[in-house]
Amino acid sequence: MCIFCDIAVGKQKAEIMFQDQDMVAFSDINPKAPVHILFVPKKHLESLQALGEGDIALIGKLVWKAKELARDQGISDGYKLIFNGGQLQRVSHLHLHLLGGWKAEEKVSEV
Ligand code: 5GP
Ligand code: ZN
Repeated sequence: MCIFCDIAVGKQKAEIMFQDQDMVAFSDINPKAPVHILFVPKKHLESLQALGEGDIALIGKLVWKAKELARDQGISDGYKLIFNGGQLQRVSHLHLHLLGGWKAEEKVSEV
């Protein structure tokens, strides 16, 4: 088990924005943008490198839900979707970052 598996099964608290049988979306504990949400498969997949062909629909679903939550959060006019990989990935359970909600004068931050 890892920290994101624990969140997925409710063993660890998080601000859950969406969940179903395949995935969970929750606010990042250390946000790098006014809106920073993580989209996480419930099944433990370590990274993009661990993906198999059978996971293609799952990845599509993460992106689809991120697009829907960007709309629901009112940030559709400026957002980023990011998968970190290799040494840039700190939590070894695959996740998609949704970042957005910057005001026009604010610097767009990196994750
Ligand atoms: P990575 O660098 O692996 O792509 O990003 C991991 C992200 O997970 C970071 O933005 C970090 O703030 C977030 N994170 C790490 N541990 C927790 C946690 O226990 N709860 C929540 N909500 N986010 C976490
Ligand atoms: Zn995990």
